[in-house]
Amino acid sequence: MNKKYRLETVAVQAGYEPGNGDPRVLPIVQSTTFKYDSAGELADLFDLKSAGHFYTRLSNPTVEALEKKMSALEGGIGAVAASSGQSATTILALTLCEEGDHIVASSAIYGGTFNLFRHTLPKLGIKTTFVDLDASEEEIFAAVTPRTKFIFAESLSNPSVRVLDFEKFSRVARKAGIPLAVDNTFPTPALCRPFEFGADFVVHSTTKYADGHACALGGIVIDGGSFDFSKNPEKFPSFTSPDESYHGMVYTEAFGKMAFLVKARVQVMRDIGMMMSPMNAFLTSMNLETLPLRMERHSSNALALAKFLESHPKVDWVKYPGLSDSPEFSKAVKYLKAFGGVMTFGPKGGRQGAEKFLNSLKLAKIVTHVADTRTCVLHPASTTHRQLSDDEQKKSGILPELVRISVGIENSEDIIEDFSQALDEI
Ligand code: PLP
Repeated sequence: MNKKYRLETVAVQAGYEPGNGDPRVLPIVQSTTFKYDSAGELADLFDLKSAGHFYTRLSNPTVEALEKKMSALEGGIGAVAASSGQSATTILALTLCEEGDHIVASSAIYGGTFNLFRHTLPKLGIKTTFVDLDASEEEIFAAVTPRTKFIFAESLSNPSVRVLDFEKFSRVARKAGIPLAVDNTFPTPALCRPFEFGADFVVHSTTKYADGHACALGGIVIDGGSFDFSKNPEKFPSFTSPDESYHGMVYTEAFGKMAFLVKARVQVMRDIGMMMSPMNAFLTSMNLETLPLRMERHSSNALALAKFLESHPKVDWVKYPGLSDSPEFSKAVKYLKAFGGVMTFGPKGGRQGAEKFLNSLKLAKIVTHVADTRTCVLHPASTTHRQLSDDEQKKSGILPELVRISVGIENSEDIIEDFSQALDEI
């Protein structure tokens, strides 16, 4: 698309432009491989001398369409889609880091990402220091070491729904000469555009609102095009010195601004193989067409439910960044267009009260998921965050009574009636 369309138009139209006589709807290219007339053409593709699809582990036309749509929505220069949000974050980390490198991450992040940084990446020699979202600029900067390769945080954290202070974190990243990577899964580009606030890379679990119907796992890494690895060759030698696995190619010299995306695809994706399937790319692409509409409804329903819960006698506390008395409200208004569909609350009666409430819901279902059209609930302390120690749970903001709600796009009165009758059972 040449013209700079607005977000709603981009969501519908970007990614796939049918030629004359082509299918109007994005085709599902369910093929692992692609045919060429000569061995030379294929060899050039392998040597990255020409562009084209040759094996779906590296690229596929349906997956490429999704990459283009998500990148256009975020305002990036390109993207690499992955099999899940976890794969996307892994690709980000393995593209930027080598053995002995280091990450600074917000401690208010999804439990799976915390585990990846805390337990799995250290097995490859990549360590992470976690910092509190409220840490001062000096404290965050003090966590940076000479081997730190990026700062990572969630724009709206799961499940503590805290809003990232983009200015503070991006200032530290600039000062340290390293990129800021932001997981924008919860607000999506419909509500927050991290590249406009100083992020250099964005990752998503597209499994969440991007798909938004709980039918396709997926993830994506998007490059904002703002970080220049060649400015600091000693800091980023894996971008600025020869890659032996590619006949000594130097990514920054051969691909300039696209260095990160090419390295992520032809080195990390090639070797680790966590690509998105064409079918999931098709489903996610279709569902992205309604993303701005859905995010509006998720947000208005959630605000109505948060206000109802806030004034309910059987509720101890509610955390939703859209409530005007929330400590997150000023940041939320600054960085988000609306406040999304996820909130947490503490029913009276501690852990037992939470269990009674959850078991009494009728419309809302208990599922290990957020961010689809159907209202759902979860008790993180006994599920998604159960691998964390008590101390780690506390640091991630997980209290024993905490119930996470993902408000769907049903009629808000039906949702509120369901919560009301379940609270009556406590
Ligand atoms: N990032 C966030 C904010 C998430 O909420 C999740 C999953 O819940 C992930 C990443 C991981 O995504 P996936 O489940 O697609 O691997």
